[in-house]
Amino acid sequence: MTSAPWREFGDELDRWRDAGRIADFWWRDDDAAHPTASLARLASLSGRCGVPLALAAIPADAEEAIFSDLPETVEVLQHGVDHCNRAPEGARACEFPSGAHVDSALARLAGGRARLQLLAGARLLPVLVPPWNRFAPELIGMLPSLGICGFSSFSARPAAELVLGVRQVNTHVDLIAWRRGRVFVGEAKALAEAVEHLRARRENRVDPGEPTGWLTHHALHDEPLWSFLDRLFRFTASHGTVRWLRAVDVFHVVAGA
Ligand SMILES: [Zn+2]
Repeated sequence: MTSAPWREFGDELDRWRDAGRIADFWWRDDDAAHPTASLARLASLSGRCGVPLALAAIPADAEEAIFSDLPETVEVLQHGVDHCNRAPEGARACEFPSGAHVDSALARLAGGRARLQLLAGARLLPVLVPPWNRFAPELIGMLPSLGICGFSSFSARPAAELVLGVRQVNTHVDLIAWRRGRVFVGEAKALAEAVEHLRARRENRVDPGEPTGWLTHHALHDEPLWSFLDRLFRFTASHGTVRWLRAVDVFHVVAGA
């Protein structure tokens, strides 16, 4: 029997279908660095289900082994540089806080990008995912000078172009309950967040052109979360109106650039 959250999710997808629209989704997973069993499980899930995965890797910590034997469905994004908190005391965690030295921040970002290019090769896209989804506004305009032309944080974007030459596509459904023991948020909350973003897009309350982004953190996945992903991918595969996009299409960028 289908439970209410899945029914409501299906109903919302039906409304997209009835309106002749494709519900486009994308999947971002953060904090890739080490070759662990959960990372291998994540990559294999993506390959087996044919669902594109944008893997946000931490340049300073990333081991070469995580990029070998990845299924063709996996692309790589840059997740900050070392994922260390540099926010002033009392402020929310941030690797690139406002007011820090601009030149050294840019040099670190460029160094991180160069390292990932070396390790991930053509899988790397010129897209920055700032740790904790926060980034100093004064640095954003300088991203194109580093060759970065995509940016991803959390919640509905205010505009498709963050600054000239940088396309923003965020995630909207966070599957981890950060303040409740870092476990799966539960399918009711996950699906309600997805329905909320889809509905807001359909009603033009947010940018309807921003694909709905699902955010995971493979290192924290418990069995209920793995099962949920499995069911989500089967459910969306059987609903003709859903399309999972590759990051290269989400950000309109060129791989390996
Ligand atoms: Zn992170």
